[in-house]
Amino acid sequence: MTIETRATVELKDLAAVEYQCNCGAKSVRPIGGGLRERGNTVPVKCEACGELWTVDGSVARHIAQLLNLVAVLADQKGARFTLRFEVAGLPDARK
Ligand SMILES: [Zn+2]
Repeated sequence: MTIETRATVELKDLAAVEYQCNCGAKSVRPIGGGLRERGNTVPVKCEACGELWTVDGSVARHIAQLLNLVAVLADQKGARFTLRFEVAGLPDARK
């Protein structure tokens, strides 16, 4: 018998996104309906040390688009399937 342990997440399980600067400071922003109304809330620089994280803003725009898409897809009603992402690197529960 083979037992397989996998960890998966659905889009609706994603509650927040964490940005960590190379200085170690973290900024956690919620993902959800509020994000869509507020628009781009992706930080472009570290709130602690002021280091710019993006040069031209395109990375921040792409992240905002990704987060907006996550929020939209997580709110989808009536889908006949469930989309899950497998999380790699978690410790094996059998050990
Ligand atoms: Zn920093």
